[in-house]
Amino acid sequence: MTNVFIISAPSGSGKSTLVDKLREQVPNLEFSISYTTRKPRGAEENGREYFFVSREQFEEMIRSNEFLEYARVFEVDYYGTARRFLHKAQEDGKDLLLDIDVQGAAQIRLQIPGAVSIFILPPNRSELEQRLRSRGQDSEEKIERRLETARREIENYQKYDYILVNDRLDESVEGLKAVVLSERLRRSGQPDRGLGARAEMYRLENVRERLQPILQSFREVAASGGK
Ligand code: ADP
Ligand code: 5GP
Repeated sequence: MTNVFIISAPSGSGKSTLVDKLREQVPNLEFSISYTTRKPRGAEENGREYFFVSREQFEEMIRSNEFLEYARVFEVDYYGTARRFLHKAQEDGKDLLLDIDVQGAAQIRLQIPGAVSIFILPPNRSELEQRLRSRGQDSEEKIERRLETARREIENYQKYDYILVNDRLDESVEGLKAVVLSERLRRSGQPDRGLGARAEMYRLENVRERLQPILQSFREVAASGGK
């Protein structure tokens, strides 16, 4: 049976970095390469990070029902998961990893109720801003838009099964691996080799308290008008 793992995070939290490590270290995990109408960033290549398509091509794919889910992210660009990635994972007996936003995650939960969802958060707003700037791939206007989107997105954290605060990278990688591997073992009826206890640390009900200052750092800036 194919397990579906959804990973969402505000842009700049380190999700791509974490997902790359996960893909290197966890076997039998098919990664769904999304379609998007946004332009490639930095060294991104068509067919590796995304399939970069025109708006017309994307809308044609919507009409032909090729998407499992799709959404407008940052109010301008379309992003979508092609159904064929799920079919391929099922045929190959692999699990599927979806790196999608909160709107996409909501659509997948409706279609695949057993999907496991993981939300990644930065340690606070100023660290997120710093990571977006240090990545050096977005204009000032885009950084502002991403911070504003982040503020709205993180308010959806309660819809996710697991929450990971990406503070120290090595710890986050181990945490993410524990979640994926323990869910996989548990669902296949195998002993979880101690990974379950590690994964439990990231369960929503076990991190609520720790999240409050992070959420507050975003709310405070919003309340002061973004200054
Ligand atoms: P996302 O995919 O969430 O938009 P990226 O993976 O591109 O984010 O990471 C944004 C920036 O933050 C990158 O420059 C990355 O190297 C850096 N980064 C990622 N994780 C950490 C971490 N735990 N600590 C410090 N910097 C990080
Ligand atoms: P970025 O432009 O930084 O690569 O991604 C922007 C946002 O779009 C991220 O939150 C990412 O998870 C989301 N995203 C990427 N692919 C998809 C997709 O196929 N569907 C949806 N709904 N969101 C996606």
